[in-house]
Amino acid sequence: MGVTVRQADADDAVNGVPPRWVALPETVEEVSAVLRTCAERDLAVVPAGGGTKLHWGPPPERCDVLLDMCCMNAVLEHAAGDLVVRAQAGVTMDALAAALADKGQELALDPPFAEYTTVGGTLATATAGPRAFRYGTARDLLIGITVVLPDGTIAKSGGKVVKNVAGYDLGKLFTGSQGTLGVIAEATFRLHPLAADRRWLVAETEVSDDVLLRLAASQTEPSAVEIDCPDGKNTTVAVLVEGSAAEARAVALREVLGDGTVTAEAPEWWGLILRDEVLLEARFPPARTVEALAAAGEAGFSFRGSAAAGRAYLESRDDVPEDELAATVTRLRARLEALGGRVTVLATPYEGVDRWGQVSALPLMRRIKERFDPGRRMSPGRFVGGI
Ligand SMILES: Cc1cc2nc3c(=O)[nH]c(=O)nc-3n(C[C@H](O)[C@H](O)[C@H](O)COP(=O)(O)OP(=O)(O)OC[C@H]3O[C@@H](n4cnc5c(N)ncnc54)[C@H](O)[C@@H]3O)c2cc1C
Repeated sequence: MGVTVRQADADDAVNGVPPRWVALPETVEEVSAVLRTCAERDLAVVPAGGGTKLHWGPPPERCDVLLDMCCMNAVLEHAAGDLVVRAQAGVTMDALAAALADKGQELALDPPFAEYTTVGGTLATATAGPRAFRYGTARDLLIGITVVLPDGTIAKSGGKVVKNVAGYDLGKLFTGSQGTLGVIAEATFRLHPLAADRRWLVAETEVSDDVLLRLAASQTEPSAVEIDCPDGKNTTVAVLVEGSAAEARAVALREVLGDGTVTAEAPEWWGLILRDEVLLEARFPPARTVEALAAAGEAGFSFRGSAAAGRAYLESRDDVPEDELAATVTRLRARLEALGGRVTVLATPYEGVDRWGQVSALPLMRRIKERFDPGRRMSPGRFVGGI
């Protein structure tokens, strides 16, 4: 099978590790052929979508072939009546959104920079945006997947209808796997109608857990309750309502928040991660948001994310040396774990920073990795515990 392969250059490096070749498959069968060949020759493979987040996760232990999914960019089937779409993994989120908008529908994730971000990369990194509070994350919206295993086997799980997975759900396993189990080739998602109207209630205000919880639980049904605190001091709360009577519902939420302006535009920081050389994800019980916010601020991080879903992204406010960052992460992790939360370092240039902390399921995850990829050829070393 004539899969296009070219010599790699410096721009193809995966977190500093240059591959030898770049393979550009155009079909699932071609992905399978590449992986089979790599298995025969013991070549290590890193899949790439838009290439925007290859610096998230540790550098691969070895990298012979970058499997660039850019040519697998077709929206295969949009069953608008069933609110379902099937797409190849290299489709950009923008292209997918444009195809769906034609029929008044959307995949309710909020990836910014969607011009480059691909379906496969979105699933493999499993980042969540503001509206995950209402619609769930990529993992929740995925109902079927086609993957190619490291030996070239093509495997399908789920289907075109919601709740159709017989047996183990490969989609859930591959979402967030960072390319370490195999290659995501196609995905089928559940869709939502595009909201007829949207309003944001935005207030620069002190927050209390009580008010945040009342906003999230309000009968006006907000789609997101977000907090932005860039400097450890000044906090902005923004609440999104979508659908009919959005304006009136946003005004009603002002009663709960006690302050705020209702606008038709998202605040400029909404759902954005901008400085991701050092990036942490913090999880915490929503009822402990104020403590999580204080802990992040004292540790020198900006805090942006979902109070309602108990998840925030922390960006480093300053450039800090390795030892200092390692110590800060350890302290912050201990504080958030005491609240019932956890801290994951999504990106750091330093090897000496503990990215994951204690992961109780690690022995099980190692066994899953051994089953799927006994030769350790898929993105080796890029996941929790050096998997
Ligand atoms: C809701 C949401 C909000 C986000 N917010 C932001 C933001 O504010 N700022 C920001 O910078 N980013 C944000 N992101 C992440 C951003 O969209 C990433 O660019 C994206 O997730 C990575 O896509 P990519 O195609 O560039 O993947 P790449 O960077 O190419 O790859 C990322 C990882 O996925 C693996 N991978 C890629 N494709 C496949 C495949 N087909 N099979 C198996 N593994 C694969 C790679 O090996 C790598 O480990 C957000 C994402 C979501 C979903």
